[in-house]
Amino acid sequence: MQKLLQNLLDLQTVDIRLNDVRARLARFPKKLADSDARVAAAKADLDASKAAQLATVKDRKKYELDVESWKEKVRKYKDQTSQIKTNEAYRALQHEVQMAEDEIAKAEDRLLEQMVASEEYDRRIKASEIALKEVEQVERVQRSNVEADRALAEKELAEGNAERERAVTEIPEKILDHYDRIVKKHNGVALAEVRNEKCGACGMIVRPHVIQEMRRSESTELFHCETCTRIIYYIEPSVSSAPAAASASQASASASTSRES
Ligand SMILES: [Zn+2]
Repeated sequence: MQKLLQNLLDLQTVDIRLNDVRARLARFPKKLADSDARVAAAKADLDASKAAQLATVKDRKKYELDVESWKEKVRKYKDQTSQIKTNEAYRALQHEVQMAEDEIAKAEDRLLEQMVASEEYDRRIKASEIALKEVEQVERVQRSNVEADRALAEKELAEGNAERERAVTEIPEKILDHYDRIVKKHNGVALAEVRNEKCGACGMIVRPHVIQEMRRSESTELFHCETCTRIIYYIEPSVSSAPAAASASQASASASTSRES
């Protein structure tokens, strides 16, 4: 194979590796964001349990005050009893006392409900705290794995870039521009091997005279697939499979026309 083609192939090998590394690097931010989101969700769950608990504490204080203030009223009514002069006034006062005691009973019922609810929220807070710790533990490991993978990928990227810089010095600028254009058009792969007289990338037939020209040792021309326009190269088969390749090259020169890869 001519030197230029070999250099282009080396460049393609580096480029394919670089594409893979870049694709891996592009996935890391989402992995880290997903990990953060899982921790945030566990935290939000704990916060919600704590907020609910706080609300019951506030309600409880209010009902405790209600109980106290109604009890205070009952005491005042009872103090007034000694000054009562008529039966009617006495009955009215008794009625007030009864109403206040009903209110005390109601407030104490609500207080009890809040205490039961509070125990439930205590349990929820404890469960949320345990869940948060577990999630944080798992995500810490996950995060450090992701960071290690990213550091490795960054290193591979730097190595790949250095290798590419070396590889391109072997290739004339005009040919490099040409290569880059095909790379852009074909998702990173500009070269295709000819196998069984076909373009290894798009599968279309390569004319026998083109293959013959490619096989000439003094050939310096670059050949392209007529269909997908990739630069094509030919690797001489090993001695054992040579007869098969030779007979294959005598097959008809049916020109390919349409299919694009
Ligand atoms: Zn092709």
